[in-house]
Amino acid sequence: MSMKVPYFDLQAQIRALRPELDAAIARTLDQCSFCLGPDVAAFERDFAKFSGAAHAVGFNSGTSALHVGLLLLDLKPGDEVITTPFTFVATSWAISYVGAKPVYVDIDDATCNLDPAKVERAITPRTKAIMPVHLYGQSCDLAPLAALAKKHGLHLVEDAAQAHGATYRGQPVGTVGAVAGFSFYPGKNLGACGEAGALIMADAALAERARALREHGSRTRYYHDEIGYNYRMEGIQGAVLDVKLKHLAAWTAARRRIARRYTELLKGSPVKLQTELSGCEGAWHLYVVRHARRDELRAHLEKQGIGTGLHYPHPLHLQKCYADLGYRAGDFPVTEAAARECLSLPIYPELPDAQVEHVAREVRAFFGA
Ligand SMILES: *Cc1c(COP(=O)(O)O)cnc(C)c1O
Repeated sequence: MSMKVPYFDLQAQIRALRPELDAAIARTLDQCSFCLGPDVAAFERDFAKFSGAAHAVGFNSGTSALHVGLLLLDLKPGDEVITTPFTFVATSWAISYVGAKPVYVDIDDATCNLDPAKVERAITPRTKAIMPVHLYGQSCDLAPLAALAKKHGLHLVEDAAQAHGATYRGQPVGTVGAVAGFSFYPGKNLGACGEAGALIMADAALAERARALREHGSRTRYYHDEIGYNYRMEGIQGAVLDVKLKHLAAWTAARRRIARRYTELLKGSPVKLQTELSGCEGAWHLYVVRHARRDELRAHLEKQGIGTGLHYPHPLHLQKCYADLGYRAGDFPVTEAAARECLSLPIYPELPDAQVEHVAREVRAFFGA
């Protein structure tokens, strides 16, 4: 049976929300509130509530949010931040932007998230923070990381760019660390109609400084207390995001349903499936399977009209831009195997059941299973 299954498709979501989005954008146009403004403020209040945080601060991307997140902790050149080499590069950009050094630690084979058991031996007198990522929308094991941070006097910063609505033992991700960054890139679980991001935090003073840093380091117009940035969220993105946020819980439930269906259908097949930590609920930004014959499997699915993705095929410790960190192939064997084996199957809230079944059937067909 031939059936086209796109890897990702935003059109159904935008079509369904079109009247609401049109009205929200029209209101922003009428107000001419294009940079920050009331729509961004309303979204910040609603996103803080959704995330279980006292404060949310909107940014013009997830990358700029993470950058400011590290500035808030007064990281300086020479400082080290322990993080994962198996993520989108922007996690490490934030560390580099403040002049600190990413120190990579290998991932856990079952979850593809930073392995807490390997973190302690990477801590040096220069270590200032631990920055885990909730990769694919699955919470990483935060309790041991928080315990290590406390024991060694380090900050814990969460990259929750893929994990809106995920929980760690009943607690929303992003609320365990001092500060957490989210991305609203259009393809994320909550996506703007353009670029956007946010920080969440419990501490009012950190939130106040984040607001100043995103707006030219300014608290009072034309007074610049410290060197700042133009990292403001656009008014239209705030309006769009506030409309979409109302649907996020339902979308997350749909992603979880699709993930459960894939897992049922692929259980016992040769591909290795993602594991959720017990007591944690993932946001299922991606549904990733692993196999040594990943490239052949991908080509087979492609031939059947099924789109797939790779997250991420080139680990950060082997990127040219980080050559001066001195890492080599073989330094992080679990990461390097995951990079060779991971394959992201189509998952988005509107993906029809019949297509999920078709994808799973074709994965099995490739192996003759
Ligand atoms: C998307 C993403 C970012 C960066 O967010 P942008 O909004 O694209 O700048 C950072 N970290 C991770 C893990 C991401 O997936």
